[in-house]
Amino acid sequence: MSERAAPFYCPYCGDEDLRPSEEKHGAWECAACSRAFQLKFLGLLSQGLKRSDSGGAQI
Ligand SMILES: [Zn+2]
Repeated sequence: MSERAAPFYCPYCGDEDLRPSEEKHGAWECAACSRAFQLKFLGLLSQGLKRSDSGGAQI
């Protein structure tokens, strides 16, 4: 699994004009609002994204 994740939108202003930072590895810079940010992969959810439909109506 790649550690690099590419954001599609700036989390602050929502612009798509993002470019990888040359100063900091894994950081991204938004050309629209001049913010720099980093994405961090924290790990997998222990239970996954379970639907809470257990115990519901069954067909
Ligand atoms: Zn931005």
